[in-house]
Amino acid sequence: MARTVEVPEYEVHEEIRVDPRRTALVIVDMQNDFVKEGGALVIPDAEATIPAIRRLLTLARESGMKIVFTQDTHGEDDPEWGIWGEHAREGSWGWHIVEELAPREDELVIRKVRYDGFYGTHLEHFLRLWGVDTLIICGTVANICVHYTAASAALRWFDVIIPRDATSALDPFDLESSLRQTAFLFSGRITESDGIRARKMDVGLYRSKLEEAVEDR
Ligand code: ZN
Repeated sequence: MARTVEVPEYEVHEEIRVDPRRTALVIVDMQNDFVKEGGALVIPDAEATIPAIRRLLTLARESGMKIVFTQDTHGEDDPEWGIWGEHAREGSWGWHIVEELAPREDELVIRKVRYDGFYGTHLEHFLRLWGVDTLIICGTVANICVHYTAASAALRWFDVIIPRDATSALDPFDLESSLRQTAFLFSGRITESDGIRARKMDVGLYRSKLEEAVEDR
C-alpha cells in the first residue's frame, strides 16, 4: 500500500563556486542500457538529463576540471544480474556511454562492477594524485550508483556536490530521499547544473584580493 510522506526540507544552493584545479566532474553510468530506448534497464527520466550533463561537461572542459566517467561493467554470471537481470554487458551496445556524452581520449573512464564507483576501482588513486578534493557527481541512477558513489566519496572526506537536474531515478521518492540523505548525512551540497561556477583565480583578481586583505588589517 502506498503511503504519503513529507520530504524533510534540505537546502538547494542557488550558486556554488568551485576551484576547477581541485574539482572533478564525475558522470555516473550514462550508458545506453540505462538511458536510451531499447536499453536493458531504462530510467525514463535519464535521457532528459543529457542537456544538463552536457552543460556541466562543457564547464568542466573549459575550466580545466578533471573529468571522470563511470561505466557499469558486467560479464557472464555476474551476481548483479541476479538482482537486475542482464545489463551493461562489457562490449555490448548497452554498455557504451551515450554518444552525446562520449568521453574524450584524455578523460578517465572507470569501469565498475557495483553501485559504488570506488569499490574495487582506481578512482580514489587518481583523485588523490590530481589533488582533487571536490566532486560534482551526476548521472544515473540517483539513489543507486550516484548515491553510493557520493556516499563513498563523502566517507573519504571529499566535498560532494549534486546538481539535481543532472540526475534521475525511477521514482520521485527515490530521488528525493537520496538528495535529502546526501545533504543531511554527508553535508553534501545540492544545486542545479547552472548554479555551478568555476572560480577563476587570475593574477589580477589575486592581487585585488590581496590588497583587500591588506586594507582590512
Ligand atoms: Zn550493474
